[in-house]
Amino acid sequence: MSQALPETIPTALFAERADAVAAAARELSALGWTPATSSNFSMRVDADHAAITISGRDKGRLGRDDIMLVDMQGKAVGTDARPSAETELHTQVYRRWPQMNAVLHTHSRTQSVASRLFAKAGMVRLQGWELQKAITGYTTHESVLEIPVFPNTQHMPELVARVDAWLDAGKPLHAYLIDGHGIYTWGRDMAETRRHLEALEFLLGCELDLRRLSA
Ligand SMILES: [Zn+2]
Repeated sequence: MSQALPETIPTALFAERADAVAAAARELSALGWTPATSSNFSMRVDADHAAITISGRDKGRLGRDDIMLVDMQGKAVGTDARPSAETELHTQVYRRWPQMNAVLHTHSRTQSVASRLFAKAGMVRLQGWELQKAITGYTTHESVLEIPVFPNTQHMPELVARVDAWLDAGKPLHAYLIDGHGIYTWGRDMAETRRHLEALEFLLGCELDLRRLSA
């Protein structure tokens, strides 16, 4: 492994996080949610570092060596590898919420189509679905779950600012879509984050079906 670790991070800790990120990537890739090397995945390692996928690798074949260390500004630590172009969106989550420890970003067909369809409204408003209860903090189908859709850009600070603006307005945020691109979601551990991602994929698919069937 060409990843050198700071003295404060035990090798076993980084290896455990890297393995968990790589396993999640392989499983989500098998579902067809990471086409053509897209998508990126990370876990917090400590207060100042995260383990994240190296840019451009086939997500269906990821192993420990495809995961690298970054600081909370998204800069590589102890390696020449290049992190995903979207690393700043991951580290933003870790900076804003000390309790959040995993971030998943995928580009499934359902997520991509939903992001285009709901871009004009600026959000997907979910209500009346039992599976909303899969999102931590939601205890009834009667709750309203808003997933914002932000415009796509290759300039990450713009997206970071849009996420900050949404949060600074005091609105709850468990996930967001990027127009024509995909979804970001997070959680306290990998299992919770996976549950959020799977629930949102399902709910977006249901919303698309409803529109198709009632057209
Ligand atoms: Zn992406």
